[in-house]
Amino acid sequence: MRALIWNGVNDLRVETVKDPEIVNPHDCILRVTMSTTCGSDLHFIDGYIPTMKAGDVIGHEFMGVVEDVGPEVKKVKKGDRVVVPSFITCGQCWYCKNKLYSLCDNTHPKPELQEPVFGYPTAGIYGYTHAFGGYAGAHAQYVRVPFADNDCFKVPDGVPDEQVLFLSDAAPTGYMGADFCNIQPGDVVAVWGCGGVGLMAQRSAFLMGAERVIGIDRLPERLQMAREHVGSETINYEEVDSVLEVLKEMTGGRGPDACIDAVGMEAHGTGLQYAYDRAKQLMYMHTDRGQALREAILACRKGGTLSILGVYGVMDKFPIGAIMNKGLTVRTAQQHGQAYMDRLLDHAQKGELNPSFLATHRFSLEDAPRGYAMFKHKEDGCVRSVFIP
Ligand SMILES: [Zn+2]
Ligand SMILES: [Zn+2]
Repeated sequence: MRALIWNGVNDLRVETVKDPEIVNPHDCILRVTMSTTCGSDLHFIDGYIPTMKAGDVIGHEFMGVVEDVGPEVKKVKKGDRVVVPSFITCGQCWYCKNKLYSLCDNTHPKPELQEPVFGYPTAGIYGYTHAFGGYAGAHAQYVRVPFADNDCFKVPDGVPDEQVLFLSDAAPTGYMGADFCNIQPGDVVAVWGCGGVGLMAQRSAFLMGAERVIGIDRLPERLQMAREHVGSETINYEEVDSVLEVLKEMTGGRGPDACIDAVGMEAHGTGLQYAYDRAKQLMYMHTDRGQALREAILACRKGGTLSILGVYGVMDKFPIGAIMNKGLTVRTAQQHGQAYMDRLLDHAQKGELNPSFLATHRFSLEDAPRGYAMFKHKEDGCVRSVFIP
């Protein structure tokens, strides 16, 4: 089959690789009908996250049609059109039973790569480094889905592929981030980042009853999406002296009730702190640029909630004192998509959630390297590149 592989730092190629096969009785093989890029892919494509090997098939956000099932697969059937969350989960362990799916204890075959950094390993992810399991990814004609019954979600008829594709990752991540905020009527929610996850977090905050949502970014076309597709108010941080002051003004001096970081370790920013982060990151003295997260911590009202969706590794100058003294509640996780999928499919079917506007650019699989380049450089207003094998 044809697949997009990582060949080295900033070197993606489409090559012919071995077809996936049923390895375990709970597996299924999916014929991928649509997959999409993710900001977190950029962290290993450019080498910030190590443990990639030349030849690894990448991609973790996808949907498709079931082509073959293992002998123990009970619910999923050949021909089913399904969407699959990016974390691989067994459905049986303590974490899965407590709906903490991205922490599944049974799907990381290489825990020794994570334990020194995290203490315990997370679940595995498709196509996302050996530190996250070394599974083959989904920018390919076919992909193996372990634990098919737990991880394949049947798409209702009449809901088009493009609307469902983002239920694989961006939508459940954003939805979970809003859910973490325990939103009450009248709440103001500020979201750093207007990429796929940030826009989904904003939409979800409204679905959960937020009165006002404020999206923060620097790209005019993304801010426009936040206003037009979501109904958010927006701040372009490059056009204001201080996001903190603007947020204070917009909230009568109190600050947002909840702040969601949908940016992560490669944040852009302005000023001295950003220059400091950038310099240290370039020298590999720490891995993360934390401008967005620090700002969210300072901007949040006293006693508010900080919900962290951006991907992080190690950061210094982390304002733990502001969190402690202001009594913030901090919630964070990689997406527990399986916990939200029924609600998300219901929202999609009712037309309350339609993330298809994120799919700004479409490519054939053969053109995927160009799709990633456009996505990385945000060329032509690219929010997400979508691949159709
Ligand atoms: Zn993703
Ligand atoms: Zn599990």
